[in-house]
Amino acid sequence: MNPLQRSAKQLVFWLVGLTLLFAAFQNMKAVQHEEEIPYSTFKEKLTSGTVTEVTMRPDLIRGRYGAEGGKLVAFRTFPLPDPDLVKEMSSAKVALYQGEPDKSWITAVVINLGWVVLFFGLWWIFVIRQVQVGGKQALSFGKSRAKRNEPDKKKKITFVDVAGCDEAKEELQEIVSFLKDPAKFTKLGGRIPKGVLLFGPPGTGKTLLAKAVAGEASVPFFSASGSEFVEMFVGVGASRVRDLFEQAKKAAPAVIFVDELDAVGRARFAGIGGGHDEREQTLNQILIELDGFDTKEGVILIAATNRPDVLDPALLRPGRFDRHIPVSAPDLRGREQILQIHSKGVKIDPAVDLMVLARRTPGFVGADLANLVNEAALLSARRDKESVAMLELEEAIDRVMAGPSRKSRMISEKEKKIVAYHESGHTLIAKLLPGTDPVHKVSIIPRGPALGYTLQLPTEDRYLTSRTDILNRLCVLLGGRCAEELIFSEITTGATDDLNKATAYVRRMVTEFGMSEKLGHITFRKDEGEVFLGRDIARGPGYSDSTAQEIDGEIKRILEECYQKTRGLLTKNKALLESIATRLLEKEVVEAEELDVLFSQATLQKASA
Ligand code: ADP
Ligand code: MG
Ligand code: ZN
Repeated sequence: MNPLQRSAKQLVFWLVGLTLLFAAFQNMKAVQHEEEIPYSTFKEKLTSGTVTEVTMRPDLIRGRYGAEGGKLVAFRTFPLPDPDLVKEMSSAKVALYQGEPDKSWITAVVINLGWVVLFFGLWWIFVIRQVQVGGKQALSFGKSRAKRNEPDKKKKITFVDVAGCDEAKEELQEIVSFLKDPAKFTKLGGRIPKGVLLFGPPGTGKTLLAKAVAGEASVPFFSASGSEFVEMFVGVGASRVRDLFEQAKKAAPAVIFVDELDAVGRARFAGIGGGHDEREQTLNQILIELDGFDTKEGVILIAATNRPDVLDPALLRPGRFDRHIPVSAPDLRGREQILQIHSKGVKIDPAVDLMVLARRTPGFVGADLANLVNEAALLSARRDKESVAMLELEEAIDRVMAGPSRKSRMISEKEKKIVAYHESGHTLIAKLLPGTDPVHKVSIIPRGPALGYTLQLPTEDRYLTSRTDILNRLCVLLGGRCAEELIFSEITTGATDDLNKATAYVRRMVTEFGMSEKLGHITFRKDEGEVFLGRDIARGPGYSDSTAQEIDGEIKRILEECYQKTRGLLTKNKALLESIATRLLEKEVVEAEELDVLFSQATLQKASA
């Protein structure tokens, strides 16, 4: 229905409604103003000649008489058997009408039905029309508005269309093979995850990946956004969830995709002022559906969020969204591949080197890169070029960076360099000192609030940590700040998180582990348990002010010693620090094996020198 038709329809509704209302009002007025008089009074008025008009019915007489002021007053009265009546009336020159024999019960029913219809008409106008505002379908608002995408042979999205998140793809591969042949998996009794949670910054291709899973497996794809479930009416969201799952089960095997899960899945009871009833009900319904359906039915729920931290813990429990797949910003090679994918549909000048572009776009996510190619194409078209050349592509970088639709932050060359040395500092110290977890990977691709990260993975579970180990780990934490200072003679805010962690760790050393010589083997630990209702405030820390000063002094001393040790180590191995940082700037991600190679080269050089 086009807007014109819709407003015409609305106008008709209003006219009909108002007319009915007006008629009802008139009717009411007429009934009200009819004066009921006794038959004797009627006879009196008739003989005195004031009655001007009479309608006769066997059971009712209606008419008008003239009152004092010359006004006509409507009246009614109930006739008695009176043979002289007509005679008297003709002598009084009354206009006489013969009324129909009055309403049978059928008339009564019809009139009552009329009222019912009128009522429903008004209800329709006032209630349903309101709900329909925005062109939504009346009475189907409990239905899910999920879009169903059939596997389309021609423009099916598959893993080929997604680049730069190989780990995520690998993990999702299992889901794909399950969807292709659910029976094969369930036959052996294996438990397939019901829910997969994709998380990562916006624009990294989470939605795309979910679509690709459905595309790879050639199954229908139902997608809905979390915000669609949050409606004005309590219970609507829950009923939409139910409907969504029902639809998907009918089409199984199928993929349900809930985008922006955090819109409904935020932790309940969080925040002051109570929860949001509607959201809570919706979340509960999702949990019920997740618990209720069996993967045997061949339905997999994939959800995406860029705020996994705010999700309700109930969602993340085993048997629900128990598979969490990070989708991070692409690295250099990933960016090149994404650029390749998106430049396929565009006429690109053969001289264009996508690797150079990838190098110039650290921090860009897939959506930014897609946008970049598009901007360049538009720019070239405006300049009447035959194909998209490097010049336009480079200009497009600036446009995307300045543009409003930018999804990620762009890191300048200078910042990138600082981050590279910072992370190299962590890595170098971690590799030099024993008792620290091996470095698995070091990266200068932003992740969450961090601009880079050094990933250390423990080789085994450890339950005891020695004092030396703790001190060594502190050195690793301080390595970033220290490297910055050593190389740039300047320090940045980039080490805030490291310093927080280090300080908290030292505080525990002193107050919990009894590892400070000065204070001795003693703990100053507060009672275990949750802090509630100001219990902590009431009790105080449990030691004196002078002890507090001593604790602070010890924390400072230990940190300072660690810092000096770190600085010494970095100064001695400055060449190695440089080579790690250079490699990082070049590749953005350096894996463990490559680090080992760098280290062995350095020791060889030292031996020969
Ligand atoms: P998200 O859901 O993570 O916010 P989307 O999947 O909606 O991001 O990505 C938006 C668009 O950006 C996609 O349609 C695609 O064109 C492009 N894009 C994002 N990530 C990638 C990627 N890894 N590979 C190829 N294209 C990508
Ligand atoms: Mg998305
Ligand atoms: Zn750091």
